[in-house]
Amino acid sequence: MTAFYRKMSTMTQFDLHTHSTASDGSLSPTELVKRAKLQGVTHLALTDHDGTEGIREAQDIAQEEDICLIPGVEISVSWHGATVHIVGLHVDVENDALQKGLSLLRDYRHERAVKIADRLDKAGIKGAYEGAKQYASETMLGRVHFAKFLIEKGYAKDMGDVFKRFLIKNKPGYVSGDWALLSDTVNWINGAGGQAVIAHPARYKMTATKRRKLLAEFKDLGGAAIEVASGSQHPEEVRTMGHLANEFELLASAGSDFHSPDKNYSEVGKIANLPPFVTPIWSKWPYVVQ
Ligand code: AMP
Ligand code: MN
Ligand code: MN
Ligand code: MN
Repeated sequence: MTAFYRKMSTMTQFDLHTHSTASDGSLSPTELVKRAKLQGVTHLALTDHDGTEGIREAQDIAQEEDICLIPGVEISVSWHGATVHIVGLHVDVENDALQKGLSLLRDYRHERAVKIADRLDKAGIKGAYEGAKQYASETMLGRVHFAKFLIEKGYAKDMGDVFKRFLIKNKPGYVSGDWALLSDTVNWINGAGGQAVIAHPARYKMTATKRRKLLAEFKDLGGAAIEVASGSQHPEEVRTMGHLANEFELLASAGSDFHSPDKNYSEVGKIANLPPFVTPIWSKWPYVVQ
Protein backbone atom coordinates (compact mmCIF):
# COMPACT_ATOMS: atom_id res chain seq x y z
CA MET A 1 0.00 0.00 0.00
CA THR A 2 2.75 2.43 0.98
CA ALA A 3 4.70 1.58 -2.15
CA PHE A 4 1.60 2.17 -4.23
CA TYR A 5 1.12 5.66 -2.80
CA ARG A 6 4.75 6.54 -3.23
CA LYS A 7 4.59 5.53 -6.86
CA MET A 8 1.40 7.48 -7.50
CA SER A 9 2.78 10.65 -5.98
CA THR A 10 5.76 10.73 -8.32
CA MET A 11 4.03 9.51 -11.46
CA THR A 12 2.82 12.42 -13.50
CA GLN A 13 0.94 12.67 -16.73
CA PHE A 14 0.57 16.18 -18.12
CA ASP A 15 -1.96 17.43 -20.62
CA LEU A 16 -1.50 21.18 -20.93
CA HIS A 17 -3.86 21.98 -23.82
CA THR A 18 -7.56 21.00 -23.82
CA HIS A 19 -10.97 22.45 -24.68
CA SER A 20 -14.45 22.32 -23.16
CA THR A 21 -17.92 23.59 -24.08
CA ALA A 22 -16.73 27.01 -22.86
CA SER A 23 -15.16 27.24 -26.33
CA ASP A 24 -15.40 24.68 -29.13
CA GLY A 25 -14.97 21.46 -27.20
CA SER A 26 -17.86 19.04 -26.86
CA LEU A 27 -17.47 18.06 -23.18
CA SER A 28 -18.41 20.30 -20.27
CA PRO A 29 -15.52 21.21 -17.95
CA THR A 30 -16.82 18.57 -15.51
CA GLU A 31 -16.97 15.84 -18.16
CA LEU A 32 -13.51 16.83 -19.42
CA VAL A 33 -11.88 16.60 -15.99
CA LYS A 34 -13.53 13.23 -15.33
CA ARG A 35 -12.36 11.87 -18.67
CA ALA A 36 -8.83 13.18 -18.08
CA LYS A 37 -8.76 11.42 -14.72
CA LEU A 38 -9.86 8.15 -16.33
CA GLN A 39 -7.12 8.55 -18.93
CA GLY A 40 -4.48 8.82 -16.20
CA VAL A 41 -3.84 12.56 -16.45
CA THR A 42 -2.50 14.03 -13.19
CA HIS A 43 -2.00 17.65 -14.36
CA LEU A 44 -4.58 19.10 -16.71
CA ALA A 45 -4.73 22.59 -18.20
CA LEU A 46 -8.08 23.80 -19.51
CA THR A 47 -7.20 26.18 -22.35
CA ASP A 48 -10.38 27.33 -24.06
CA HIS A 49 -10.17 29.71 -27.00
CA ASP A 50 -10.18 33.38 -25.96
CA GLY A 51 -11.97 32.82 -22.64
CA THR A 52 -11.72 31.36 -19.17
CA GLU A 53 -15.41 30.77 -18.36
CA GLY A 54 -14.89 27.05 -17.81
CA ILE A 55 -12.08 27.34 -15.28
CA ARG A 56 -14.15 27.68 -12.11
CA GLU A 57 -16.23 24.58 -12.82
CA ALA A 58 -13.10 22.64 -13.84
CA GLN A 59 -11.31 23.62 -10.64
CA ASP A 60 -14.21 22.52 -8.47
CA ILE A 61 -14.49 19.09 -10.03
CA ALA A 62 -10.69 18.70 -10.20
CA GLN A 63 -10.56 19.06 -6.44
CA GLU A 64 -13.14 16.31 -6.03
CA GLU A 65 -11.37 14.07 -8.54
CA ASP A 66 -7.93 14.76 -7.02
CA ILE A 67 -6.36 16.01 -10.23
CA CYS A 68 -4.30 19.17 -10.58
CA LEU A 69 -6.12 21.75 -12.70
CA ILE A 70 -3.99 24.46 -14.28
CA PRO A 71 -5.97 27.55 -15.29
CA GLY A 72 -5.22 28.34 -18.92
CA VAL A 73 -6.43 29.94 -22.12
CA GLU A 74 -5.61 29.68 -25.84
CA ILE A 75 -5.40 33.13 -27.40
CA SER A 76 -5.91 33.79 -31.11
CA VAL A 77 -3.16 35.96 -32.61
CA SER A 78 -2.62 37.44 -36.06
CA TRP A 79 1.06 37.51 -36.93
CA HIS A 80 2.36 38.60 -40.34
CA GLY A 81 -0.73 37.32 -42.13
CA ALA A 82 -0.91 34.03 -40.22
CA THR A 83 -3.18 32.99 -37.36
CA VAL A 84 -1.10 31.69 -34.48
CA HIS A 85 -2.39 30.31 -31.18
CA ILE A 86 -0.69 31.15 -27.89
CA VAL A 87 -1.55 29.13 -24.82
CA GLY A 88 -1.30 30.84 -21.43
CA LEU A 89 -0.71 28.53 -18.46
CA HIS A 90 -1.19 29.38 -14.79
CA VAL A 91 -2.92 32.63 -15.62
CA ASP A 92 -4.77 34.53 -12.93
CA VAL A 93 -8.24 34.52 -14.47
CA GLU A 94 -9.20 37.59 -12.45
CA ASN A 95 -6.52 39.74 -14.08
CA ASP A 96 -8.17 42.83 -15.62
CA ALA A 97 -5.87 43.39 -18.59
CA LEU A 98 -6.10 39.73 -19.59
CA GLN A 99 -9.90 39.71 -19.32
CA LYS A 100 -10.21 42.98 -21.28
CA GLY A 101 -8.09 41.52 -24.06
CA LEU A 102 -10.10 38.29 -24.13
CA SER A 103 -13.35 40.21 -24.13
CA LEU A 104 -12.27 42.18 -27.22
CA LEU A 105 -11.39 38.94 -28.96
CA ARG A 106 -14.80 37.47 -28.21
CA ASP A 107 -16.47 40.63 -29.53
CA TYR A 108 -14.44 40.20 -32.68
CA ARG A 109 -15.58 36.57 -32.88
CA HIS A 110 -19.19 37.78 -33.04
CA GLU A 111 -18.36 40.32 -35.78
CA ARG A 112 -16.57 37.60 -37.71
CA ALA A 113 -19.48 35.20 -37.21
CA VAL A 114 -21.86 37.73 -38.80
CA LYS A 115 -19.49 37.99 -41.77
CA ILE A 116 -19.16 34.23 -42.05
CA ALA A 117 -22.96 33.90 -42.01
CA ASP A 118 -23.30 36.64 -44.69
CA ARG A 119 -20.88 34.83 -46.91
CA LEU A 120 -22.63 31.52 -46.42
CA ASP A 121 -25.94 33.26 -47.12
CA LYS A 122 -24.57 34.50 -50.46
CA ALA A 123 -23.59 30.92 -51.21
CA GLY A 124 -27.23 29.89 -50.62
CA ILE A 125 -26.90 28.64 -47.04
CA LYS A 126 -29.50 30.43 -44.90
CA GLY A 127 -29.69 30.88 -41.13
CA ALA A 128 -26.08 30.02 -40.37
CA TYR A 129 -25.60 32.63 -37.61
CA GLU A 130 -28.52 31.36 -35.51
CA GLY A 131 -27.65 27.81 -36.44
CA ALA A 132 -24.05 28.14 -35.26
CA LYS A 133 -25.09 29.94 -32.07
CA GLN A 134 -27.20 26.96 -31.06
CA TYR A 135 -24.01 24.96 -30.68
CA ALA A 136 -22.03 27.66 -28.88
CA SER A 137 -21.71 28.84 -25.30
CA GLU A 138 -22.95 32.31 -24.36
CA THR A 139 -19.69 34.02 -25.10
CA MET A 140 -17.51 32.15 -27.57
CA LEU A 141 -18.49 31.63 -31.18
CA GLY A 142 -16.10 29.86 -33.53
CA ARG A 143 -15.79 28.05 -36.80
CA VAL A 144 -16.46 24.68 -35.14
CA HIS A 145 -19.96 25.88 -34.28
CA PHE A 146 -20.57 26.76 -37.93
CA ALA A 147 -19.12 23.39 -38.86
CA LYS A 148 -21.63 21.59 -36.62
CA PHE A 149 -24.51 23.54 -38.17
CA LEU A 150 -23.33 22.76 -41.72
CA ILE A 151 -22.96 19.05 -40.91
CA GLU A 152 -26.42 19.01 -39.28
CA LYS A 153 -27.88 20.52 -42.46
CA GLY A 154 -26.18 17.88 -44.59
CA TYR A 155 -23.73 20.20 -46.36
CA ALA A 156 -20.76 18.08 -45.30
CA LYS A 157 -20.21 14.66 -43.78
CA ASP A 158 -17.73 15.39 -40.97
CA MET A 159 -15.43 18.01 -39.42
CA GLY A 160 -12.53 17.46 -41.80
CA ASP A 161 -14.86 17.64 -44.80
CA VAL A 162 -16.70 20.77 -43.65
CA PHE A 163 -13.52 22.74 -42.98
CA LYS A 164 -12.04 21.74 -46.32
CA ARG A 165 -15.14 22.70 -48.26
CA PHE A 166 -16.46 25.74 -46.40
CA LEU A 167 -14.32 27.22 -43.66
CA ILE A 168 -10.76 27.63 -44.92
CA LYS A 169 -9.14 30.18 -47.22
CA ASN A 170 -10.85 30.61 -50.61
CA LYS A 171 -13.98 28.78 -49.44
CA PRO A 172 -17.49 30.31 -49.11
CA GLY A 173 -17.51 30.61 -45.30
CA TYR A 174 -13.98 31.90 -44.82
CA VAL A 175 -13.22 35.29 -43.28
CA SER A 176 -9.61 36.19 -42.64
CA GLY A 177 -8.89 36.63 -38.94
CA ASP A 178 -8.07 39.94 -37.28
CA TRP A 179 -6.89 38.72 -33.91
CA ALA A 180 -4.67 40.03 -31.12
CA LEU A 181 -1.07 41.21 -31.49
CA LEU A 182 1.60 38.74 -30.42
CA SER A 183 3.16 41.36 -28.15
CA ASP A 184 -0.14 42.17 -26.40
CA THR A 185 -0.88 38.48 -25.96
CA VAL A 186 2.44 37.67 -24.31
CA ASN A 187 2.04 40.75 -22.10
CA TRP A 188 -1.49 39.76 -21.03
CA ILE A 189 -0.31 36.27 -20.10
CA ASN A 190 2.86 37.37 -18.31
CA GLY A 191 0.98 40.23 -16.62
CA ALA A 192 -1.50 37.67 -15.27
CA GLY A 193 1.38 35.68 -13.77
CA GLY A 194 1.28 33.01 -16.48
CA GLN A 195 3.62 31.39 -18.95
CA ALA A 196 3.10 31.85 -22.69
CA VAL A 197 3.38 28.81 -24.96
CA ILE A 198 3.23 28.61 -28.76
CA ALA A 199 0.51 26.04 -29.45
CA HIS A 200 0.95 23.26 -32.03
CA PRO A 201 3.99 24.93 -33.68
CA ALA A 202 4.24 22.38 -36.49
CA ARG A 203 0.67 22.94 -37.65
CA TYR A 204 1.07 26.45 -39.05
CA LYS A 205 1.35 26.63 -42.79
CA MET A 206 4.50 28.74 -42.87
CA THR A 207 8.03 28.26 -44.13
CA ALA A 208 10.68 27.01 -41.73
CA THR A 209 12.30 30.46 -41.94
CA LYS A 210 9.09 32.20 -40.93
CA ARG A 211 8.59 29.73 -38.07
CA ARG A 212 12.06 30.53 -36.77
CA LYS A 213 11.25 34.24 -36.99
CA LEU A 214 8.11 33.58 -34.93
CA LEU A 215 10.09 31.72 -32.28
CA ALA A 216 12.77 34.43 -32.10
CA GLU A 217 10.21 37.23 -31.78
CA PHE A 218 8.16 35.26 -29.24
CA LYS A 219 11.27 34.63 -27.11
CA ASP A 220 12.23 38.33 -27.28
CA LEU A 221 8.74 39.34 -26.15
CA GLY A 222 8.98 37.14 -23.06
CA GLY A 223 7.43 33.88 -24.32
CA ALA A 224 8.28 30.82 -22.22
CA ALA A 225 7.74 27.64 -24.22
CA ILE A 226 6.54 25.83 -27.30
CA GLU A 227 4.38 22.73 -27.50
CA VAL A 228 7.03 20.22 -28.44
CA ALA A 229 4.56 17.36 -28.06
CA SER A 230 1.08 18.04 -29.38
CA GLY A 231 -1.77 15.63 -30.03
CA SER A 232 -1.85 16.67 -33.65
CA GLN A 233 1.89 16.46 -34.17
CA HIS A 234 3.60 13.70 -36.15
CA PRO A 235 6.10 11.80 -33.98
CA GLU A 236 9.10 12.93 -36.05
CA GLU A 237 8.01 16.54 -35.63
CA VAL A 238 8.28 16.15 -31.86
CA ARG A 239 12.06 15.83 -32.10
CA THR A 240 12.32 18.69 -34.60
CA MET A 241 10.27 20.94 -32.31
CA GLY A 242 12.39 19.83 -29.36
CA HIS A 243 15.56 20.96 -31.11
CA LEU A 244 13.91 24.26 -32.02
CA ALA A 245 12.89 24.80 -28.39
CA ASN A 246 16.47 24.31 -27.25
CA GLU A 247 17.89 26.51 -29.98
CA PHE A 248 15.63 29.41 -28.97
CA GLU A 249 16.04 28.69 -25.26
CA LEU A 250 12.37 27.92 -24.84
CA LEU A 251 10.89 25.34 -22.49
CA ALA A 252 8.93 22.37 -23.80
CA SER A 253 5.20 21.90 -23.23
CA ALA A 254 2.93 18.95 -23.99
CA GLY A 255 -0.77 19.10 -24.80
CA SER A 256 -3.27 16.98 -26.70
CA ASP A 257 -5.48 19.85 -27.95
CA PHE A 258 -8.39 17.57 -27.03
CA HIS A 259 -11.77 18.83 -28.23
CA SER A 260 -14.05 15.80 -28.24
CA PRO A 261 -14.11 12.03 -27.70
CA ASP A 262 -14.91 11.82 -31.42
CA LYS A 263 -12.25 9.70 -33.09
CA ASN A 264 -11.19 12.57 -35.39
CA TYR A 265 -9.66 14.37 -32.41
CA SER A 266 -6.73 13.48 -30.17
CA GLU A 267 -7.69 11.79 -26.91
CA VAL A 268 -7.12 13.72 -23.71
CA GLY A 269 -3.78 12.73 -22.17
CA LYS A 270 -2.63 11.00 -25.34
CA ILE A 271 0.56 12.82 -26.20
CA ALA A 272 4.02 11.65 -27.22
CA ASN A 273 6.70 11.77 -24.52
CA LEU A 274 8.91 14.82 -24.59
CA PRO A 275 12.37 14.06 -25.97
CA PRO A 276 14.94 13.62 -23.18
CA PHE A 277 17.01 16.60 -24.33
CA VAL A 278 14.40 19.34 -23.69
CA THR A 279 13.50 21.16 -20.48
CA PRO A 280 9.84 20.53 -19.63
CA ILE A 281 7.81 23.62 -18.76
CA TRP A 282 6.86 21.97 -15.45
CA SER A 283 10.50 21.49 -14.40
CA LYS A 284 10.31 24.59 -12.21
CA TRP A 285 6.71 24.26 -11.03
CA PRO A 286 7.10 24.16 -7.28
CA TYR A 287 4.28 21.71 -6.57
CA VAL A 288 5.36 19.12 -9.12
CA VAL A 289 7.46 16.26 -7.73
CA GLN A 290 10.51 16.38 -10.02
P1 AMP B 1 -11.65 29.60 -34.93
O1 AMP B 1 -10.69 29.95 -33.80
O2 AMP B 1 -13.06 29.90 -34.60
O3 AMP B 1 -11.21 30.15 -36.26
O4 AMP B 1 -11.59 28.02 -35.05
C1 AMP B 1 -10.39 27.31 -34.94
C2 AMP B 1 -10.73 25.91 -34.47
O5 AMP B 1 -11.33 25.20 -35.53
C3 AMP B 1 -9.55 25.06 -34.05
O6 AMP B 1 -9.21 25.28 -32.71
C4 AMP B 1 -10.11 23.69 -34.23
O7 AMP B 1 -10.93 23.38 -33.12
C5 AMP B 1 -11.01 23.83 -35.42
N1 AMP B 1 -10.40 23.44 -36.72
C6 AMP B 1 -9.60 24.18 -37.50
N2 AMP B 1 -9.28 23.51 -38.62
C7 AMP B 1 -9.91 22.31 -38.54
C8 AMP B 1 -9.99 21.17 -39.39
N3 AMP B 1 -9.37 21.13 -40.57
N4 AMP B 1 -10.73 20.12 -38.97
C9 AMP B 1 -11.38 20.16 -37.79
N5 AMP B 1 -11.35 21.20 -36.95
C10 AMP B 1 -10.62 22.26 -37.32
MN1 MN C 1 -10.68 24.64 -31.28
MN1 MN D 1 -5.16 25.97 -31.60
MN1 MN E 1 -6.53 24.24 -28.97
